[in-house]
Amino acid sequence: MKAMQIQEAGGDFQAVELPIPEPGLNEVRVAVEACGICHSDAFVKEGLWPELELPRVPGHEVAGRVDAVGDAVVGYEPGDRVGVGWHGGHCFHCEACRDGDFIACENATVCGISYDGGYAEYLVAPQEALARIPDALDAADAAPLLCAGITTYNALRNTGAQPGDLVAVEGVGGLGHLGIQYARRMGFHVVALSRGPDKEELARELGAHDYIDTRAQNPAEALQALGGARVILETAPSAEAATAVVDGLGRSGELVLVGASQEPMQVSAMQLIMARRSISGWPSGDASDSQDTLDFSALADITPRIETYPLEEANEAYERMITNAARFRVVLEP
Ligand SMILES: [Zn+2]
Ligand SMILES: [Zn+2]
Repeated sequence: MKAMQIQEAGGDFQAVELPIPEPGLNEVRVAVEACGICHSDAFVKEGLWPELELPRVPGHEVAGRVDAVGDAVVGYEPGDRVGVGWHGGHCFHCEACRDGDFIACENATVCGISYDGGYAEYLVAPQEALARIPDALDAADAAPLLCAGITTYNALRNTGAQPGDLVAVEGVGGLGHLGIQYARRMGFHVVALSRGPDKEELARELGAHDYIDTRAQNPAEALQALGGARVILETAPSAEAATAVVDGLGRSGELVLVGASQEPMQVSAMQLIMARRSISGWPSGDASDSQDTLDFSALADITPRIETYPLEEANEAYERMITNAARFRVVLEP
């Protein structure tokens, strides 16, 4: 099979021919129809993930069809439409797994990092990593929903926000353009925040009721003028942007971070105490959350905005993603 492989840290994707992998007892072979390119693929390309072994085929936004099943697999047949996201499997016996908290599994694997992922014609994944793809979704649209989609959908649905509450989404990019759509379809009063006026038209098209240009206005004051946010979903990987919106939270307001930044935020206890505000992070979800994301997306007619490229053009496609040129997610089609 054809695959695009990283052979050394910092190197380009190399087109290689690999043997078609055989599924083990509890594994399924998936014929890949589409695989999204995610910013986290840089962990492989730049060799930044601690336990990473090279060479590796990256890709954790995989949509395709079951091609073969291991002897112990239950409930999947060749031809079934399935997806695999970041959460690539769990051990079933650690403390987190015993609690059913699979995303926090101590021995969790990551598709495209712990084992070869979707930048290929086939991959093999354990059956607990599979989500079913509804008929209404194209493979190319389903792929980014398995990482960018689940992250925003699952973060939002696990907050305390109720229909009608003010929910702000900061950043109108790969994550944010989906977060705005989910927030709108979940029934919230949606405010989009972005630097500059350029994204306003798109944000409103995606479902935002209001728009705050964070260069022209103080975002915290602008959110307070709207009543204070019950939830702010921070999709921009910027500690500075996150710090600037804390005072825009209303009573019991939650700032939920999904844009991965290494920089420390600056916030005082007093900013949080009196209004009972909190700051938290959210890590995508497991395959069951992926399936909920796909089902809700089909039900509410939510799709990502994508650019598609053939598998062989992974280097060019990755460049579109990493330089922020893509609008908004990049998908490879083997
Ligand atoms: Zn991802
Ligand atoms: Zn576990």
